[in-house]
Amino acid sequence: MARVDPLVARMRPFGTTIFAEMSALAVRTGAVNLGQGFPDSDGPPEMLAAAAEALRTGQNQYPPGPGIPALRAAVADHQRRFWRLEYDPDGEIVVTAGATEAIAAAILGLCEPGDEVICFEPYYDSYAASIALAGAVRRPVTLRPGADGRYAFDPDALRAAFGPRTKLLLLNSPHNPTGKVFTPDELRLVAELCQEHGVYAVTDEVYEHLVFADTGHVPLATLPGMRERTLRISSAGKTFSCTGWKVGWASGPATLVSALLRVKQFLTFVNAAPLQPAVAVALALPDDYYTDFLAGMRQRREQLVGGLSAAGFDVLTPEGTYFVTADITPLGGTDGVEFCRSLPERCGVVAVPTQVFYDHTDAGRPLIRFAFCKRPEVLTEAVTRLGALRTG
Ligand SMILES: *Cc1c(COP(=O)(O)O)cnc(C)c1O
Repeated sequence: MARVDPLVARMRPFGTTIFAEMSALAVRTGAVNLGQGFPDSDGPPEMLAAAAEALRTGQNQYPPGPGIPALRAAVADHQRRFWRLEYDPDGEIVVTAGATEAIAAAILGLCEPGDEVICFEPYYDSYAASIALAGAVRRPVTLRPGADGRYAFDPDALRAAFGPRTKLLLLNSPHNPTGKVFTPDELRLVAELCQEHGVYAVTDEVYEHLVFADTGHVPLATLPGMRERTLRISSAGKTFSCTGWKVGWASGPATLVSALLRVKQFLTFVNAAPLQPAVAVALALPDDYYTDFLAGMRQRREQLVGGLSAAGFDVLTPEGTYFVTADITPLGGTDGVEFCRSLPERCGVVAVPTQVFYDHTDAGRPLIRFAFCKRPEVLTEAVTRLGALRTG
């Protein structure tokens, strides 16, 4: 038989993810892995106990398609409590297999082939693949580090990205991999343009509880005129340190939610029956949980930012998420991919090159990303090892 690649053409540009390559490298070299963004400790004990209880008490069969009522109610309460957003748990909220499935189902449910999706690059790696699977076209708007150490975009570039085929704008704030939190002014411009052009917004807010900036988190759906055109997506993975659970949700007007659900029911149908009641418990935890979580991450951020600066990197202090990006230029590096491939050998640490999250790779060539959602002693070890870069 002829040796042809059976993979469909639209998926061929997507190789195995950089995380797989870098994590394998970490294992092979015994390096400290600050590449992939997963915490190395478990989430709140109340949540874990609720999951164990659900497993033992027979909550192991298909849950309802939109998710169990207790979780949908908890998602609604949580959004009212933190963001003063009102969603009807019956019809305006659906539980998904992580934020990833919600994003995929939103794009597949809203985009005809040839429709355009605006997203800010660097972007989370699943966006490009979901857009491609839908036969849609991505229109990236580039985020660049400015002299003030903040990532920003050119407002005219954003304006120019809107056109007659634009169907939706995908906004991730707080933003992975840059750690950027979109400012109120930036959100206002996004909101204005979406309304002017009749475009839907799909927001990826999985880091909603990891904002270090004084402004706190501002969901796009809270801006005037935006609730009715926004699908708001979040997930338990980051907020409750359970990235392997893949319990996410989408909230929005019933028409948008039902478009998403139509697709979702044929992707996974349902997921994580015994984990759903546990996430409902976690969402209802008192404010202490959320403030302690943020305070712990803030400390780790200082620790890693300080260590990276001392090691000689040009560090962009993140305003949100648990990632830091660093410029390798002061250390004589020019290409992040090369730099990250040699980093484990040079000093026993793994990071990921940011350029793989860009269409315009030049914009991210000297930038690499480190995760600080690790135990303080792991960060101490990483920082000590990175200290060898200057001398080595
Ligand atoms: C981790 C992450 C996701 C995926 O969330 P899951 O709930 O694990 O599917 C989506 N978007 C961003 C920006 C992320 O960092």
